Amino acid sequence: MLLEVRDLRVEFRTRDGVAKAVNGVDYGVDAGETLAVLGESGSGKSVTAQAVMGILDIPPGRITDGEILFRGQDLLTLKEEERRRIRGAEMAMIFQDALSSLNPVLSVGDQLGEMFVVHRGMSRKDARARAVELMDRVRIPAAAERVRQYPHQFSGGMRQRIMIAMALALEPALIIADEPTTALDVTVQAQVMELLAELQREYHMGLVLITHDLGVVADVADRIVVMYAGRIVESAPVHDIYKAPAHPYTRGLLDSVPRLDQKGQELYAIKGLPPNLMNIPPGCPFHPRCPMAQDVCRTDVPPLYEVTHAGESDGGRGSACHFWRECLHGLDR
Ligand code: SF4
Ligand code: MG
Repeated sequence: MLLEVRDLRVEFRTRDGVAKAVNGVDYGVDAGETLAVLGESGSGKSVTAQAVMGILDIPPGRITDGEILFRGQDLLTLKEEERRRIRGAEMAMIFQDALSSLNPVLSVGDQLGEMFVVHRGMSRKDARARAVELMDRVRIPAAAERVRQYPHQFSGGMRQRIMIAMALALEPALIIADEPTTALDVTVQAQVMELLAELQREYHMGLVLITHDLGVVADVADRIVVMYAGRIVESAPVHDIYKAPAHPYTRGLLDSVPRLDQKGQELYAIKGLPPNLMNIPPGCPFHPRCPMAQDVCRTDVPPLYEVTHAGESDGGRGSACHFWRECLHGLDR
């Protein structure tokens, strides 16, 4: 496994109390594989990624337990210097908002080139040539001219391509993309996502794709984990989840994705709000919003049950629902 997160726990200390943002998350991604991490805001999906990238180690965020294995080595036990080296050369992150991640007073060529100057010891001239190549690679038209321009001179979609180019520059083994297309128009979203998927295959990278939008992951992800209140509630090969979700929360998310064949119909919305992380409900944290909730759900925390089909294990599926069978077979409807 390229990256393996094991029983990760993260807290935030605030004036009002301790927010339990990540509560025992396990996931992994291999080289050449795309893992989608799905959840509403506050589900812990970004915080988990920030812990992996090592950009969480400053208060008030605190990793209280768990392991983050990169090529089998626990990053949490490494010296900061070694960690920084891995973070610079072997893993990269793409954020939602390219404009605030790019330096406004440096040309994109200088920013891209800087990666090669600092990490590869290239001359300015060679670095500039590599920057143009990279811009070509992410299909920015007229790269040789536009390399001199500043971030604000590019459209949102083009800026996100520049972010992808920055992430790719050192050919990392792992890329974490946190809502990489959320700020873009729908048509541009699809193009940028397609590009990212193509490069992921070509470079045989591991990709962790964080999103709140089930609509964007179907074509690009291999596996998917669904997070809620800092836990994984469902984990499965992507196509299984679309065919038949084994958790009511996943089903709610699926039912709220707009579909072309249902134009004009009102979209389903999961009732209520995600829980306050300083006061997570007892039992199943989803029970106040769950249409299938029973008494046991209010008292007993569901473990991640192995989802089986006709007694057979179903490609490493898991669901943290006491009633995953009923959900999977639609028996409750
Ligand atoms: Fe709903 Fe109960 Fe399953 Fe939680 S355990 S998702 S409340 S049915
Ligand atoms: Mg986020």
